[in-house]
Amino acid sequence: MTASPSARTAQTGTLEKTGKPKLAFRPLPVPQVDVHGFWGDRADAVAARTADILYDRCVEARMLEQIDPDRPSPGLVIPFHSPSPDEAERQGAEFTGSTVTTQMFWDSDLGKTIETAAYSLYRRKNPELEKKIDAVIDMYGRLQQPDGYLSSWYQRIQPGLRWTNLRDCHELYCAGHLIEGAVAYYQATGKRKFLDIMCRYADHIASVLGPEPGKKKGYCGHEEIELALVKLARVTGEQKYMELAKYFIDQRGVEPHYFDEEARARGADPKAYHFKTYEYNQSHKPVREQDKVVGHAVRAMYLYSGMADIATEYGDDTLRTALDRLWDDLTSKSLYITGGLGPSAHNEGFTSDYDLPNESAYAETCAAVGLVFWASRMLGMGPNARYADMMERALYNGSISGLSLDGSLFFYENPLESRGAHNRWKWHRCPCCPPNIGRMVASIGSYFYSLADDAIAVHLYGDSTARFDISGVPVSLTQASRYPWDGAVGITLEPQAPVEFTLHLRIPAWSASAGLTVNGDAVSLADVTSDGYAAIRRIWKKGDQVRLDLEMPIERLYANPQVRQDAGRVALSRGPLIYCVEATDNDSQLHRLTLPRTASVEAQQRPELLGGVVTLSAVARSDAGDGWQSGLYRPEPPATAETRLTAIPYFAWDNREPGEMLVWLRDG
Ligand SMILES: [Zn+2]
Repeated sequence: MTASPSARTAQTGTLEKTGKPKLAFRPLPVPQVDVHGFWGDRADAVAARTADILYDRCVEARMLEQIDPDRPSPGLVIPFHSPSPDEAERQGAEFTGSTVTTQMFWDSDLGKTIETAAYSLYRRKNPELEKKIDAVIDMYGRLQQPDGYLSSWYQRIQPGLRWTNLRDCHELYCAGHLIEGAVAYYQATGKRKFLDIMCRYADHIASVLGPEPGKKKGYCGHEEIELALVKLARVTGEQKYMELAKYFIDQRGVEPHYFDEEARARGADPKAYHFKTYEYNQSHKPVREQDKVVGHAVRAMYLYSGMADIATEYGDDTLRTALDRLWDDLTSKSLYITGGLGPSAHNEGFTSDYDLPNESAYAETCAAVGLVFWASRMLGMGPNARYADMMERALYNGSISGLSLDGSLFFYENPLESRGAHNRWKWHRCPCCPPNIGRMVASIGSYFYSLADDAIAVHLYGDSTARFDISGVPVSLTQASRYPWDGAVGITLEPQAPVEFTLHLRIPAWSASAGLTVNGDAVSLADVTSDGYAAIRRIWKKGDQVRLDLEMPIERLYANPQVRQDAGRVALSRGPLIYCVEATDNDSQLHRLTLPRTASVEAQQRPELLGGVVTLSAVARSDAGDGWQSGLYRPEPPATAETRLTAIPYFAWDNREPGEMLVWLRDG
């Protein structure tokens, strides 16, 4: 199955109908980038396994009974199949009951599942899955009300209450994920049915909510609709959806506070809000006045993603200024070294500055995925390694740690330390993370590049081929690289006719030195680099060769001393990868290990290990157990013994037998 020519045209995302000026940098659509190597393996796992698993789990969770108007409404609590002993072990305490409660956000999980399936269809034909998704879309078509409204929760579980609790009930959030699914499915298959359904729903939303007199002045308690409407506007060319997205951004946090008024209107006390503060959903003040990253981490990342889209589309510097403040706050005070974020399970989000506990880190997979979304959208305003480096860190570490190497098992929390009991599960009562990591990996090609009128920016490196038009000339750009295992990148450009444009190449901050040549001639990076990107402008011809050699040193990384949990500790990295030690590779208990500052750390290629990784190893010290057979305390410190420490990339942990894991080692 291939996308139709008309669908492909739509994917370029320009707003043909609006007459607005062409905007800075747009990601290349998923089908225009063929990814091989590291990300090819990940995308293959999603296409071959995850996409089907997501659909099957949604069915097992009885989601289809909630959306199918031809079946009886399931009610609030429905029986759930009893898990087998193996399943119960995998699912842990999260999912062992004999009943499952229907969830108001199930439309969102189906939306992300459809999106994952859609992107996976580019990679691997799957007519059976496509048929199943078509059937789900048919159900949504039958469910949609004549006025365009579409919510399985408010139509099937709590009828009569639509638009009464935007604060808590995910109504617009669900719409957003269904819109994203519809856009992706249209792009993948050329089938318009779901897109048309969601356009009708978006039109209905615009008739109920908005700045005009008589409309509700609301917005969603869980951001998502904003970035989804931007996608809908780009794919349809309909500016009205962009305007609605901008309205939701502009209205958030404005007084009188909508969530207060809405609560009173339904007879509730606004102060009885479960989460106590509107910081939880980032509506505590207007978005342009926000300067601290607060509240629920996924909500925050989705809001900032939508803000970045609107900043790009409208050239709105007031939004950009706020986003830069928020970016500084996150990356200098509240981000794990893995690119994970949101340390607390209590609010699934942020706590106080420098509070980054390792073993209890919540660091939800969705939050790191959300950071990738936000960072990638900041690149819409132009190439800048400040954002792209962090996008890369979240991509290679704190997000894909959430998916097993074979694509079948998932993490919700991504701690940086484990005693061995934190293991992947098959599904979750709140299954937001599996389809989120699935859709991100399946669409990874669109994060590699972004395109402007006369420039292409390369944000990520790795074996891949991109196809795009620039100044009306079709161009193919092929990267040959073993990245992230090796920093050598060969780029071949093949425009169908000579064409002038700027090639922007990211020079990662972790690369101590880099070399660049064009057709064998050395280019001075100092002369051509700004904001962490080398810019080469020339008339490119077929067969032009660019070679970038990024030095990929092994680094010891230390945390700001204000991070109490990392005091006296060191982490290892190589290129974009953060490393961890796992019990199975090490003889000593991990907390007993000390990495001496004088120890030489060596990289070793291990093609047979974990699908092929580079490990790091060093001679370390381990606290000995001699004389401690009885008793808990004594005046003499333990003796130490020499031991070999072996570290693997963090993303690959918990893919073998369960055991301890540790990122931050004792520094000696
Ligand atoms: Zn999640």
